[in-house]
Amino acid sequence: MLARAVEYVSRMVNDSTSSWGAAPAAPAGPLIDIGINLAHDSFDSDREAVLERARASGVVQMIVTGSSLQSTRQAIELAREHPRRLFATAGVHPHHATQLTRECLEELHHLAAHAEVVAVGECGLDYFRNYSPRAAQQEAFHRQLELAAQTGKPVFLHQRDAHDDFIAILREHRPSFTGGVAHCFTGSAEQLASYLEHGLAIGVTGWICDERRGRNLLALLPQIPADRLLLETDGPYLLPRDLDPKPASRRNEPAYLAHIAAVCARARAEPVSALGASSTAAARQVFRLPGIDWK
Ligand SMILES: [Zn+2]
Repeated sequence: MLARAVEYVSRMVNDSTSSWGAAPAAPAGPLIDIGINLAHDSFDSDREAVLERARASGVVQMIVTGSSLQSTRQAIELAREHPRRLFATAGVHPHHATQLTRECLEELHHLAAHAEVVAVGECGLDYFRNYSPRAAQQEAFHRQLELAAQTGKPVFLHQRDAHDDFIAILREHRPSFTGGVAHCFTGSAEQLASYLEHGLAIGVTGWICDERRGRNLLALLPQIPADRLLLETDGPYLLPRDLDPKPASRRNEPAYLAHIAAVCARARAEPVSALGASSTAAARQVFRLPGIDWK
């Protein structure tokens, strides 16, 4: 599988005539994957190889998503092991909202203060799955927006099938926190407009590569200002469906970010190098990341 992924990446870098022709010889890099669940156990056996492939494909920095106390601790650990390349978020996903007891919240405050942590979240509302009751989700969302305000760090937001409640809570807190990203945006034109109005950046994933579900989003891409458009894989989830050749594994990883960038650039009718440069600059601005030498 390693060999196939390396072959895939080198093809992506070298073959400007491939079926997704927007990828140029020197592709979109340097890129930043603003949402990778690298603490996920599917990466346990080969995490370093995944990072190496990311680097080879031009992904120079990554933000490792914390979605529970445990994955937040792991994300911070990973960021410590890879200074200036990996960063962490500190948060509790709405799926796990019932876990955010008073003690957990105290620990989350402690974790969020770490220098490696560049955002609070993943937090928000998910009424699609409702793994935690809605009241618990709302409570956890309020507490984490307060935490973002207290730490002065931006928020990493998740919303699914909960737009109205999500915006109502966001609006309540908006004067006090510094900004953030609506991660894995898959919404409507109206939802996009309201996120932009609230000063949020928009995280775009390989969802746009899904010929069944991604069409609407693809059409909205030109409406996202370049300085608000961020790229993410959300790996190991959301493997782009149109990778060619198809990877042997269903697991998504940061090396495929260049492909997402190419699809995104094509939808916006702009050179992938321009999209790469603007999204990298935007990610550094939103999360206050340091620059880094590429290669
Ligand atoms: Zn999410």
